[in-house]
Amino acid sequence: MSEHQCGAGGGCSGGSCDCSGHEAPTPEEIKLQENLKKIKNKIVVLSGKGGVGKSSVAVNIAVALSLAGKKTGLLDVDVHGPSVPRMLSLSGIKPFASNEKIEPVHWSENLSVMSLGFFLPDDDSSVIWRGPVKMGMITQFVRDVDWGELDFLVVDCPPGTGDEPLSALQTLGTDAVAVIVTTPQGVAVDDVRRSVDFCRQVGNPILGIVENMSGFICPDCGKRHDILGSGGGEALATQTGVPFLGSIPIDPEMVNAADGGYAYLKKYHDGETAHSLNAVVKPLLELSGSLQEKKEAGVAGVEELSAKERGNGNLTIAVPTVNGLLCQHFGHCEVFTLVEVSAEDKKVVKSEAVVPPPHEPGVLPKWLAEKGANVIIAGGMGSRAQSLFTENGIRVVTGAEPGAPEDLVAKYLEGGLQTGANTCDH
Ligand code: ADP
Repeated sequence: MSEHQCGAGGGCSGGSCDCSGHEAPTPEEIKLQENLKKIKNKIVVLSGKGGVGKSSVAVNIAVALSLAGKKTGLLDVDVHGPSVPRMLSLSGIKPFASNEKIEPVHWSENLSVMSLGFFLPDDDSSVIWRGPVKMGMITQFVRDVDWGELDFLVVDCPPGTGDEPLSALQTLGTDAVAVIVTTPQGVAVDDVRRSVDFCRQVGNPILGIVENMSGFICPDCGKRHDILGSGGGEALATQTGVPFLGSIPIDPEMVNAADGGYAYLKKYHDGETAHSLNAVVKPLLELSGSLQEKKEAGVAGVEELSAKERGNGNLTIAVPTVNGLLCQHFGHCEVFTLVEVSAEDKKVVKSEAVVPPPHEPGVLPKWLAEKGANVIIAGGMGSRAQSLFTENGIRVVTGAEPGAPEDLVAKYLEGGLQTGANTCDH
């Protein structure tokens, strides 16, 4: 414990105190924050289970973003199976590291890569580290790697909901957006359900769920075989109220690309696998604009409210309303109640009822985005509609019970909003 004291009457004798009741940040914390400030969008690729294709999805997302002209970093913190160097033909490269910084490995002008794999003596070596050391490594890779200005940092996390994904999310902050990968079968889906819950508990928004290894199209007869089952990822998305980002089929070329060290999306641009992978990338590219613009305009989702509490801009939460209460079917409400909340003290600044345009697919998300909504609290909502809201920069909360809009918003801001199944009475 430090010996300095901060009296209520002012006057501080301690060198590391900012006199606000908090210890002043250490030089390491300052460096971490400076590095994070240079990263516009942080994407965390998670899965409840190993072997579902999480690294493959992370690598292809990063490659696709870089090919789209975005400055991208790919950070592989999968301490137990750092497969990214091999998947990008970067095995054996030793990054330059000094006391001050670690140079990432450049796959291309737009894509920089860092992986624990670069620091292992060979491909057969494993890491036996206890939790705090692993967590320190993750923080160090975000803090000490000289990422420079990035449009996107894509983080390939270890599977599960343990120390490492937790450390990754805590290091990156609550504005890191999760992409959750599953395979279709029940045992994988059950584990991925825990990943959804995990993100919600730590307060990170979920961009959506991807179902990988979803069916195999026979190249001879063209018939689809659901080897690992099908639809589990989409069903989970609907049940948990998370957008569904699409299904990627089982494709032997995905295995060849990973083993051969050439990124699938660098080589293939057509076909179902390429289209499905690109469907995951599309909302990320759209997110890049909308999130960034909103950040610059000082408006953020509730996940960023703690950051906003430092004081700039308000939050607008939309509640579909009928007879003064939340309407279970957002497309059939009489009005939307737009509740504007001060980011400073979470108090309601304004609450107004606005009549929506006639319900047609895609109209309401755009209209609400134009009205400045950051969050929609809904009863039931299909995964396609959720994707459209997410693409428009609006966070979706589903499964809310009927209640007065201001009460629901107050509960949501306190973290006490009860949400049940994502069903509607339509
Ligand atoms: P994880 O990171 O979840 O452990 P990986 O991305 O390492 O999973 O993938 C595990 C294996 O499955 C790898 O051999 C990879 O090439 C293969 N794989 C991933 N996605 C597909 C797919 N859609 N079709 C066929 N094989 C795939």
